[in-house]
Amino acid sequence: MTFAVHGLPVARGIAIGRAVLVVSSRIDVAHYFIKPEEIETEIDRVRTARNAVADELTKLQASVAQMGPNDAPHELAALLEVHQMLLQDDVLSGGVKHWISERLYNAEWALTTQLEIIARQFDEMEDPYLRERKADLEQVVERMLHRMKGTAAVLAPSPPRRKRAAAAHDDEDDDPTAGDGFDVPLVLIAHDLSPADMLQFKKSVFAGFVTDVGGRTSHTAIVARSMDIPAIVGARSASQLVRQDDWVIIDGEAGVMIVDPSPIILAEYGFKQRQGDLERGRLARLRHKPAVTLDGQRVDLLANIEMPEDTAGAVKAGAVGVGLFRSEFLFMGRENSARQTRLPDEEEQYQAYKRAVEGMQGMPVTIRTIDVGADKPLDGKSGSKQEHLNPALGLRAIRWSLADPAMFLTQLRAILRAAAHGEIHLLIPMLAHASEIRQTLSLIDFARAELDNRGAVYGPVKLGAMIEIPAAALTLKTFLKHFDFLSIGTNDLIQYTLAIDRADEAVAHLYDPAHPAVLKLVADTITECRRQGKGVSVCGEMAGDVAFTRLLLGLGLRSFSMHPSRILAVKQEVLRADTGKLEPWARGVLDADDPAAALAG
Ligand code: PEP
Ligand code: MG
Repeated sequence: MTFAVHGLPVARGIAIGRAVLVVSSRIDVAHYFIKPEEIETEIDRVRTARNAVADELTKLQASVAQMGPNDAPHELAALLEVHQMLLQDDVLSGGVKHWISERLYNAEWALTTQLEIIARQFDEMEDPYLRERKADLEQVVERMLHRMKGTAAVLAPSPPRRKRAAAAHDDEDDDPTAGDGFDVPLVLIAHDLSPADMLQFKKSVFAGFVTDVGGRTSHTAIVARSMDIPAIVGARSASQLVRQDDWVIIDGEAGVMIVDPSPIILAEYGFKQRQGDLERGRLARLRHKPAVTLDGQRVDLLANIEMPEDTAGAVKAGAVGVGLFRSEFLFMGRENSARQTRLPDEEEQYQAYKRAVEGMQGMPVTIRTIDVGADKPLDGKSGSKQEHLNPALGLRAIRWSLADPAMFLTQLRAILRAAAHGEIHLLIPMLAHASEIRQTLSLIDFARAELDNRGAVYGPVKLGAMIEIPAAALTLKTFLKHFDFLSIGTNDLIQYTLAIDRADEAVAHLYDPAHPAVLKLVADTITECRRQGKGVSVCGEMAGDVAFTRLLLGLGLRSFSMHPSRILAVKQEVLRADTGKLEPWARGVLDADDPAAALAG
């Protein structure tokens, strides 16, 4: 039966494919694709774990049998018997084999996927006794997952595209792409994904994705946008409503997912998808055109990146530099099997920054110092919300760096050394206090002194601060005394001005970039920087949103940093703009009671 699930649009476009559910389990499991030649090994890992758990249960059963009725109630023996039965169940083992051999899921992913399928069947049972057996099944699977720990193969860095499966339980007849022999696109559906998970998925093959939670500018959404695939966040119970392998359509523009679409709906969205491809083709022609307005104003369109390798996409999209390298992504998802996180040392960071500089082929690279905390925990778990009541207001970004000077100095030395290879702008996130500015600057001096002592080669950097806390936007004089340029982080500026958690879908409707207070802080920052002859750019999501291009140009902005996939669309707006005409209009928007309406009009 066809039905629709609504969420928040993140990245435009249409994706049509099979749902891949990434289920959250009480045990953290890795999700990755294996190579076809690894199928037998993965099936074997499951078999070995099952046999080990069966032995464990048999031993327990034997010791229970030796106990008297007072020490071991009769129910315990019965329960162990149930666990043995569940463990040997063909539906469990058959399903796991299916996901491994037909979908190339790693063993843990296959096991949790099949667990979810059977668990849902238990949920639907009338008999309360049978319904409660779901918990037993979960325990059995958890025992197996524990057994499998440490036996995993190395993560496959670039998973193979899955061939259309001649799947055992597949309804091939309803396969809308059947017959032409190409791969079936896969669409990822999850309750939540951390930015570190997203990095892992970035290397993979998904054609789109949907999560139950998250706001439009949550870091998960930002990484998703950088993958340039249709995506929806905040779809609430999507992961409960969709079943593994369902056909789904994601309309990233409207923020709608259609499950089990009829042939008519499929045809309609197939048409829309082709229109989108044509539009992208048209925009691609602008790649080599300089971004200059009708009245001759040059506009810098820069790229936001997460990894040095993203520079290739930035250059391809026609970026004239990197306006924001979110360096924290180098620090994420590095937990080893003993659950320890080893941060990248100076050499590793230096090599990464150098790669970014080289990747930009002489164009400037703005490296932001680490910004972890809030919805970007280091270890990839989004559990920090439970640990800290207000993570967004806690030890995040520069606060985190100043609390750990040794870690910060390591990063600063690596960035300064990389500056010997090309133009680097060093950008500091989340400053609010003059004392933080002083401490930061003296640590930068100290890092230089350390390199001098060592006789290491390093280069000059331009120093910049992010304006993303209202307190910073209201004390620009202090910032401009110390920094060469400012970069407005509208994602956080909106979050902190309007007191809206950017990652919380429950308040997403209040996340308003066109709020007069936000626009005033943005406008004042641009005006003051220009007055003092300092550089200013916007690197929040607003910079890549064409609904705001004309307004920002009218307010005097000439430097926009965004994910590469947005550059051509923004360039098209720039090419059509006349800043002489936009200036008075933009002032009118600022003064309007309802700027959003004035913007649209
Ligand atoms: C911002 O806050 O606008 C920004 C660019 O930084 P981040 O999204 O990484 O917090
Ligand atoms: Mg920010």
